[in-house]
Amino acid sequence: MTTLHVVPIGDQVDHDTSTADVDCVCGPEVRPATQADGSVGWLLVHHSLDGREHASP
Ligand SMILES: [Zn+2]
Repeated sequence: MTTLHVVPIGDQVDHDTSTADVDCVCGPEVRPATQADGSVGWLLVHHSLDGREHASP
């Protein structure tokens, strides 16, 4: 199954796009996405972070 990552450009944090899991620090939103060939994949929408509203432990 295909997983696509949508990452904010120029964000200050490094987003983990190397895995299909939702392991990124920003807590990506997962949406089902129908692709051009009709197959269904997953869209991981990453959130921009500036470190203030989501302080990492
Ligand atoms: Zn992220």
